[in-house]
Amino acid sequence: MALNLEDYFLPASLQEASTLLQRYGDGAMVVAGGTFVHGLEVRGLLTETVALVDISRLGLRGISESGNGGVSLQALTTLAEVGAAPLISRNPAFGSIGDALQYPPRQILNVGTVGGCVAAAAPLYDLPAAFLALDGQVQASLAARQRAIPLNDFFVGLFESALQRGEIITAIELPAPAARSASAFLKLETNANDLSILNVAVRLTLDKDGKCADSRVILGGGVGETYVRATSAEAALRGQTAGEASFAAAAAAVVDDFEAVEDHRASAAYRRHIAQVYVRRTLGTALARLG
Ligand SMILES: Cc1cc2nc3c(=O)[nH]c(=O)nc-3n(C[C@H](O)[C@H](O)[C@H](O)COP(=O)(O)OP(=O)(O)OC[C@H]3O[C@@H](n4cnc5c(N)ncnc54)[C@H](O)[C@@H]3O)c2cc1C
Repeated sequence: MALNLEDYFLPASLQEASTLLQRYGDGAMVVAGGTFVHGLEVRGLLTETVALVDISRLGLRGISESGNGGVSLQALTTLAEVGAAPLISRNPAFGSIGDALQYPPRQILNVGTVGGCVAAAAPLYDLPAAFLALDGQVQASLAARQRAIPLNDFFVGLFESALQRGEIITAIELPAPAARSASAFLKLETNANDLSILNVAVRLTLDKDGKCADSRVILGGGVGETYVRATSAEAALRGQTAGEASFAAAAAAVVDDFEAVEDHRASAAYRRHIAQVYVRRTLGTALARLG
């Protein structure tokens, strides 16, 4: 596929970046860490792009506690910085994030950004599944307008998100976790450079009696064009004592929540099997993290 790139910009402000993106319309593409650019090119998805708008000079880097006990990850924070942040690594509620960051190669962790990982809207990526289990939301900016988009509404299709033309992700916000919450993530892949066969992120919130007050079960990888929230599995957990029996019920229910993909990496039947095994395991890990 021929490349038609003509211009490269390095704007110094969000306003300037938005103006460029609006001027070039569908011909412009944001670049943050740039690790996905080649992936887009080989899929023939860059042929209409004439201008790259590199946002790496916009600041937008850092991790902070938001007023209500949540965490704000600015869009250009690298994946490695997220993994190293005590606000994340010391809180079992955010365990799914540390788990998800075990998989990308070191070079990608050092360069890839939180905003890029989410904006790519590729359900094969790990970190967005972890964020979904935590009810994260995207902060997006277009000129002077800032809006919040729940991640649950953000992923529209394969490589398609709810971002409007010219809109830039400025941060990922994670709400304050409820007391007695923990999360976990697990992925099956053939090797570090291949695409995910299936991944699972869960969050478990217990009441004072050890019953599941709330949960999230998120599937990614070979489950279709976007992540899937496994509501049947969540329903099987609700009000039940957290432990082997309720986790087995959730695992049995998860097959009703998605259409497994059939491809050269794995059959649909194998993916359904792995989904059950991984739901049980991730729930077990989350429970262990609650002590
Ligand atoms: C060899 C390799 C191995 C990998 N392994 C893994 C893995 O094991 N697990 C995993 O989860 N991921 C993996 N990845 C994917 C990696 O996580 C992403 O490529 C990376 O997170 C994207 O971030 P980036 O900053 O480089 O984005 P970029 O490549 O700069 O951009 C990605 C997309 O997002 C858009 N974009 C970027 N930032 C913004 C923003 N702030 N606002 C709006 N749009 C934006 C861009 O226009 C582009 O469409 C791998 C990638 C490679 C190349």
